[in-house]
Amino acid sequence: MQQASIILVIILELSALLATYLAAWARLHIRVPGANEFFWLFLGVAVYSLGYSIEISRMDLEGVLMALRLEYVGLAFIPVLMFLFVLHFIRGKPLSIPLTAALMIIPCTTLILVFTVNYHDLYYVNPRLIEGEFFPVIDFERGPWYIVNLCYLLLLTTMGLILLISYGVKVDRKKKRQVITMVMGASLPILSGILYYVGLIPGNVDPAPFALVALGVIFSFALFKLDLFELVPAARELALDSIQDGFLVIDKNGIVLDFNQAVRHLPGMQDLKVGDNLLENPILGNHLKPLLDNLTDQVEFAIRHPDCGNYYYHASAHQVRSNLFLGKAITILIRNVTENVNLMEDLRDQANMDSLTGLFNRRCLMDLGVHKLELSRQNGQMLGVIMIDLDHFKSINDQYGHAVGDAVLKQVAGHTFKGLRDEDVYGRYGGEEFVVFLPGTTPETILQIAERLRQRVLESQITLGGTDISVTASFGVYVELPNKDTKLDDLLKRADEALYCAKNCGRNQIYSASKTGR
Ligand code: GH3
Ligand code: MG
Ligand code: MG
Repeated sequence: MQQASIILVIILELSALLATYLAAWARLHIRVPGANEFFWLFLGVAVYSLGYSIEISRMDLEGVLMALRLEYVGLAFIPVLMFLFVLHFIRGKPLSIPLTAALMIIPCTTLILVFTVNYHDLYYVNPRLIEGEFFPVIDFERGPWYIVNLCYLLLLTTMGLILLISYGVKVDRKKKRQVITMVMGASLPILSGILYYVGLIPGNVDPAPFALVALGVIFSFALFKLDLFELVPAARELALDSIQDGFLVIDKNGIVLDFNQAVRHLPGMQDLKVGDNLLENPILGNHLKPLLDNLTDQVEFAIRHPDCGNYYYHASAHQVRSNLFLGKAITILIRNVTENVNLMEDLRDQANMDSLTGLFNRRCLMDLGVHKLELSRQNGQMLGVIMIDLDHFKSINDQYGHAVGDAVLKQVAGHTFKGLRDEDVYGRYGGEEFVVFLPGTTPETILQIAERLRQRVLESQITLGGTDISVTASFGVYVELPNKDTKLDDLLKRADEALYCAKNCGRNQIYSASKTGR
């Protein structure tokens, strides 16, 4: 064997290795549209290159024919796989199985005819070895099926190219670059085929395997150049798929490079594809924008579901830098925190609410009172306080039992405060005592409001075994224009003093400690 042949064999075997590597790489990116076809395509290229390296190292016809058989295991399917790859890439989904099977009929027939080449003249007619520049070359007349196979190859290659180009015209600039790179790659085997047939390649060396491997490198560059997942081995990808949180990898423009299965369960993400722009997602796009704009670490947002109320999400972003030609990218983890948020809200409600009446409890009421006092002081507004104590409530308990007392309390709490303004706050101050804070009220209006509340207490009766049980309440009222020294306790104390007077004056009364009150 000549030195040139040995070098060629080594190059071909290295090409086969590279094609295998590309196939394995595609296997790891299986969710990228076309990656599955790419995998099989480059497995085919690897087999073809290996077969060719054996072919040129054999000096006998039978040996060359054996090598050719191996070559055709890959070669026969390469045009179809390339076509299927293009279809999947541009449509985002693979061709159906029956159509794929139909496209495979001619390559399978070719393969059978190449394997049985000694028994018919359908493919190679009169195959023989002739002297080549570097190694013996097989020569033959073309049988009818050889022509069929050649036409099929040309047809699929041309159609694939046309589809790719017409797709490239429609897509955005970024994708266009990808398509142009792929068109250039796909032209390589065609160009090399033309050069080969015109006789411009020295030593009758078939350049197709090299052209195909070069195409593989170009395609992988076009397909995966922004993809970060080569950092993530298959095992980690599996782990990512098994988690409940949505995990996405996007580039700095928001283009989705990869994502796990859980992402599909997020609102508006059911049909997400690699290559989509996340920022254009109608539901999540705006919420996730801050993560990309200034790379704040995390965002929380609520999404309203028409039937099930609010869903809450927490999204966190991390910048990652990949190797080789891969630029900066961002990983985003989106967690559904609805359960946590609801739990927290429940806890907060429990901490702030009185469980019997559903009103604010004393602690929360005092906090809100301090807040109202501060606001009133800042706005130069009066702040009114009404303190309410149910009359002779002990006797209700004594007469009807504690449970009935509870029911009455609940009824009074539910009925009395209806109609107060949004800025007023009220709550349960103690056992059968309530307090209302009314910002921006005058001593006169607060008396009118208290009177309305007094009437409402009277109306809050419950019926027990045909008996109506009602209560009355006494009211202590106080209004002040707070200054920086005013304490909430002082206001409450004045209202309590007024209440004491109301009790002493016969109950079911309103008494004001304000300067203009009675
Ligand atoms: P008055 O205020 O008119 O002087 O008489 P009163 O009977 O209301 O007097 P007091 O304030 O001393 O008693 C309040 C009663 O309210 C005593 C207590 O048993 C009852 N009470 C306090 N909290 C609750 C409660 O949550 N449920 C029931 N059922 N009763 C309560
Ligand atoms: Mg009391
Ligand atoms: Mg009382």
